[in-house]
Amino acid sequence: MSHSPPTQHTLSHASHDPIIHQIAKILKDWSGPIHLAAHVDPDGDALGSTLSLKRGLEQLGQSVTLAMKVPRYLSFLCQAQEILDEAVALAPNTLLVLLDVSDKNRIWGADLSEAGYVINIDHHGSNDSFGDLAWVDSNIAAAAQMSKRLLKALNITWTQAIATPCLTGILTDTGFLRFGNTDKTVLHDVAELLDYGVLYTELTDRLQWRHPDYYRMLGLVMSTVSFPLEGKVAMVEMTEAMRQAIGETDDDSSDYVGQIRYAEGSYIAIFFREKGEDVKVSVRSRGDVSAQAICSSLGGGGHHAAAGITLRQTSLDRAKEMVLEAAKKELERHQL
Ligand code: AMP
Ligand code: MN
Ligand code: MN
Repeated sequence: MSHSPPTQHTLSHASHDPIIHQIAKILKDWSGPIHLAAHVDPDGDALGSTLSLKRGLEQLGQSVTLAMKVPRYLSFLCQAQEILDEAVALAPNTLLVLLDVSDKNRIWGADLSEAGYVINIDHHGSNDSFGDLAWVDSNIAAAAQMSKRLLKALNITWTQAIATPCLTGILTDTGFLRFGNTDKTVLHDVAELLDYGVLYTELTDRLQWRHPDYYRMLGLVMSTVSFPLEGKVAMVEMTEAMRQAIGETDDDSSDYVGQIRYAEGSYIAIFFREKGEDVKVSVRSRGDVSAQAICSSLGGGGHHAAAGITLRQTSLDRAKEMVLEAAKKELERHQL
């Protein structure tokens, strides 16, 4: 390995400048290959944070690969062959940089044990700072904002190709600047990225395009809507039978939970997705009620207001029982 690795290190949000500069220096000086990866079922922030960093590092002459199964609705952001769509074995002395990965079991496209050195850059509250060097700050709205800070520390020349995925991550993780994580730094970063040539309204329009199958499936999913726990919960489900009926590949259904999170009187929105023998659950919450607490209690994780869990070898009915029980406890904790 070309570096003597710095010791494992995490900084609180009070001061992240030293860690940013420490990571920027490693990225700039690394003499071997650099590989970027994010989480399974990637979203706009997983793609935006990694793709902007890849393009910025390449501008500095680094050799960078990125592995991700890009969902259909985000593929317009990538060039052909720019992204490896399957996991690859890492060459010796590879610096592995993980972005937006809350948990080492959720990495997609890299094997931790093959890496020469691992940097973990993330904004999930449930991240335990795994890796050789971790920059984890749950006060930051999007991992793409962390990429932006790194790219600034690296003094790159900003281009439309770098700014566009970066802005994508910020827009998608803040629900297009509507969620509670939309703070002043978010608005500042957006304004600055617009200066680098992003076509804002074209981007927001394009990011919301969905395949007709998405709407066909949405009709089936919405027909299951129910409001248990006296309407404090709104929930929907997607079954294997629906997937067979539509022939849907399921790579852009993740925002269905967003369709029910504004149900009047509800504090918690839940979307259950049957995936073979497993059930993937997406939870969203309002105010002090914590989606993260609900999912963490069952072994999952995420952010305060947006969290998830995959329940292995579990029937849909059992999954509903378990998650509703956890939701009830969380509501009771807040006297709701
Ligand atoms: P999702 O419902 O898949 O959109 O996930 C909401 C948030 O929780 C995202 O930030 C995910 O990265 C995170 N998340 C989802 N599932 C898990 C899990 N099993 N463990 C930890 N974090 C998760
Ligand atoms: Mn993400
Ligand atoms: Mn994120």
